[in-house]
Amino acid sequence: MKKILLIEDERSMARFIELELTHESFAVQIASDGYGGLDLALRDEWDVILLDLMLPGIDGLEVCRRIRAIKPTPIIMLTARDSVTDRVHGLDSGADDYLPKPFAIEELLARIRVIIRRQELLGEEKRSTLAFHELTVDLDAMEVRRREQLIELTKREYGLLLAFMQNPNRVLSRETLLDKVWGYESVVDTNVVDVYVRYLRNKIDESGEPSYIQTQRGIGYVMKR
Ligand code: CA
Repeated sequence: MKKILLIEDERSMARFIELELTHESFAVQIASDGYGGLDLALRDEWDVILLDLMLPGIDGLEVCRRIRAIKPTPIIMLTARDSVTDRVHGLDSGADDYLPKPFAIEELLARIRVIIRRQELLGEEKRSTLAFHELTVDLDAMEVRRREQLIELTKREYGLLLAFMQNPNRVLSRETLLDKVWGYESVVDTNVVDVYVRYLRNKIDESGEPSYIQTQRGIGYVMKR
């Protein structure tokens, strides 16, 4: 049974979501404020955390950052606010997805299923290390190195690097990368891929050497040497 932590202070909303999720055979626990939610999020293992933005105690963004500093548990942010800035803040704080209220419960369920499926695929693909020339990824520790030097990557940059390292010398379209790294997500478009490829190159490439990730104009990117 998949476990879901729901951090939501509005009792009727929390109760409604709990009933629907329970009906879909998820095990649900509710926390009704920021500190309580954070405590449960860190103390136990969850398949997905549903996190309201406006919470008493500490708000959802801060809860998200604090969870993310310690654990990779998937987080879907639920919020009454729906501006581009709020979405960006939500995703920047480490949330995996963002769903503005009011939402159809079917949409929430669909997004939960997608996240769980993605986690399961990641689990299946899991091998202890990946290597490409001077780059190595320790999949268990989630550590990336060039020769012996540790490279700090954000979660998305790491996901993007994995997509390339699992497909060396194969051209990956921006759509494919978007799908692999961001998954089902209505808020991003393929330009995001270009931005993150740039971030990633800045971190993994050495100045004066050709980039590990080369642009295939009009198509996408390829990791080659
Ligand atoms: Ca609230």
